[in-house]
Amino acid sequence: MAAVQITGLTGDTREVPGEPLDALAADLVGPLIYPDDEVFAEATAIWNGMIKKRPAVVVRPANVSDVVRTLEFVRDNQLQLSIKGGGHNIAGLALCDGGVTLDMSTMNDVKVDAEARRVRVGPGCNLGDVDRATQEHGLATTLGFVSATGVAGLTLGGGFGYLTRRFGWTVDDLEEVEIVTADGTVRRASRTENDDLFWALRGGGGNFGIVTEFVLRLHEVGPQVTAGVIAWPASEADAVLAVFRSVAESAPRELTSVVVRRNAPPAPWLPESAHGTPVVMVLACHSGSLEQAQADLAPIKALGEPLADLIVVKDYVAQQTLLDATQPKGMHYYWKSEFVPALSDELFAAYNAQFVGLTAPANQMVLFQIDGALNEHPEDDGAMGNREAAFACVIQAMWKPDSGADDANREWVRNAWQAIRPFSTGGNYVNFQTEDEADERTVASYRDNYARLERIKARYDPSNVFRVNRNIRP
Ligand SMILES: Cc1cc2nc3c(=O)[nH]c(=O)nc-3n(C[C@H](O)[C@H](O)[C@H](O)COP(=O)(O)OP(=O)(O)OC[C@H]3O[C@@H](n4cnc5c(N)ncnc54)[C@H](O)[C@@H]3O)c2cc1C
Repeated sequence: MAAVQITGLTGDTREVPGEPLDALAADLVGPLIYPDDEVFAEATAIWNGMIKKRPAVVVRPANVSDVVRTLEFVRDNQLQLSIKGGGHNIAGLALCDGGVTLDMSTMNDVKVDAEARRVRVGPGCNLGDVDRATQEHGLATTLGFVSATGVAGLTLGGGFGYLTRRFGWTVDDLEEVEIVTADGTVRRASRTENDDLFWALRGGGGNFGIVTEFVLRLHEVGPQVTAGVIAWPASEADAVLAVFRSVAESAPRELTSVVVRRNAPPAPWLPESAHGTPVVMVLACHSGSLEQAQADLAPIKALGEPLADLIVVKDYVAQQTLLDATQPKGMHYYWKSEFVPALSDELFAAYNAQFVGLTAPANQMVLFQIDGALNEHPEDDGAMGNREAAFACVIQAMWKPDSGADDANREWVRNAWQAIRPFSTGGNYVNFQTEDEADERTVASYRDNYARLERIKARYDPSNVFRVNRNIRP
């Protein structure tokens, strides 16, 4: 191989001769992929089409030794490295422009130990891989709402989903990891082994090394739940928000509901006459008994005249893929988020005001109920913190890459965000931060836990090898 220009650790460009690249390729079990290779496009494809980064080379490790060897190559040549799990990070943190990307996608084993209620998850797994495998045993861990999302990025940033009210952040169910740290050592980390590193990994993102295995605790869930989506015309928004709040206040932790306002997608489950018109929807997932679910969901199902009511008894796995089609890979996306402690009339007024005259077909604001188990841990039980969060408010825009609508959509999101910020806990979700968000947003998301993260970063990654992330500087 001829010499390759690769981005250095500090953003400089350096020429790496063919010899070390050939030596790397010879040592690896998995492939070293160059831009001319057929699989390069697939290996570098990520969810947010707005990100235009293109690595110089990609390594698809087959095992932990490949990860260690790649890290050694990167360190020896002082190169920039990114780690791609499911490629769903909105800021495009899976890729580094001109650098070396580790595409973990083929390290995707899932091993369920039903008796011990544990699952071992490879760093290339997406949420669907894990939900399908664990549900074969009627078990689940807390994962998010869209099945193509990577377990790695979601978990390292904290993680929440329909089971958060019962079991907390995803990292509250994290028992152990295997990780390759900047010095090339393969370590295990848990509450009893390398406990400071483990604390940092429970929310601190990809700052501390390359995780090669996650061990997550499992719980009995489903396999059948009462779940789905129900939609009304937006004229019902005040009534729907009022019922959403009263259900949220009294619901057992088995019920999670989520409210969404947007213009109706052209989905077959909605009447054609409603397509493109303003709607308000509730997504719900009840993992308790059928009788309990019917009683708890009755106020939602009895409300007004829905355009469609798809809340039924179904497989948990099916509910976990319900939103997949609404988040296609390659569209342009821009989000902002805040954690919210309570639902006030003023918050609802600010929420509704964002939809006056909204024409963008797929822009939406989502309020996820997440309170319950996560609030029972002390703020410093893991880096994720944000233990007073009761709802996550996410303002999301999606538009076609060639529509010329980048500025208008970003502006809508930013304006809506400013309207919602006064109702925030002051915290936000590091996993929803966009490329243009300042470092202060990362500091704000960790608040009092940030100083400890800095200390642990300085110990395990003093040269900031792992910097393509929401970076904690050593
Ligand atoms: C459509 C959609 C729906 C979502 N829904 C939810 C949700 O319901 N709940 C929720 O909590 N979040 C949700 N998220 C946010 C999601 O958690 C983040 O986008 C997360 O970064 C995705 O992880 P990934 O592995 O796909 O990311 P990638 O883009 O592959 O990686 C992101 C970063 O994670 C780190 N990383 C990845 N793999 C490793 C590894 N093996 N070792 C060390 N660091 C690593 C690196 O810093 C990397 O840059 C959603 C995102 C999208 C796009």
